[in-house]
Amino acid sequence: MSRTLLAGLAGIAILAACSDIVSPVRNARYDWRLIVAYDSAGPRLDTLSFHWPRNSVPVKLWVEDASDLKARAREGIALWKDAFLYGEWDARLVDDSTSADVIIRLLQPPPLPAGAIRMAASVEPCFGATDVDTGATRFEIVLPVRSYVFPSLPNDPGLEDCMRHVTSHEIGHTMGLFQHSPDSLDLMYGVPAVDFLSERDVGTAENAYHFTPDMVPVRP
Ligand SMILES: [Zn+2]
Repeated sequence: MSRTLLAGLAGIAILAACSDIVSPVRNARYDWRLIVAYDSAGPRLDTLSFHWPRNSVPVKLWVEDASDLKARAREGIALWKDAFLYGEWDARLVDDSTSADVIIRLLQPPPLPAGAIRMAASVEPCFGATDVDTGATRFEIVLPVRSYVFPSLPNDPGLEDCMRHVTSHEIGHTMGLFQHSPDSLDLMYGVPAVDFLSERDVGTAENAYHFTPDMVPVRP
């Protein structure tokens, strides 16, 4: 390799390093889109994005009134709301489950309904899951989205922290973050162990809400 080329490469490396420093950290992200298997012409995978439309915000969450789950949900809402500069996403708790967009229950996840896709986080001493049903066309999110948070080791000293991480993590799924981050320092890691948003969580949420959604919410 010639000296000139090496110098050129070094220059590129320096430029890249500088742009890393000055570029907004909000650009950091992981893939959040839902991978849907379909078989209209043989088994295929589609990668689909979703975010709540403006007229659905604040998203209506019905949260089971048990074991501080409502308090955990309020914390999760506040956490994620702060990720957005322009109020692209927000949520509020509602009393009537029949009109809710999202239902969060303190319950061991039941068998997966036909056609639904489950995102599950298995972390002792609690675990969580969120199910989405993409409808007959796969371009829909059939309401309500259902999340479950469940204490698997009720007497464990780490239970409260676990419930906090997992409830906020499941709320992340209900926003449209349908994949897990590969990084353990992100709230959306498959085994969530933090109760704050990393720069990647923030960047991913913002990106998801600035991306044209493939799926729309529908109420059956
Ligand atoms: Zn998850």
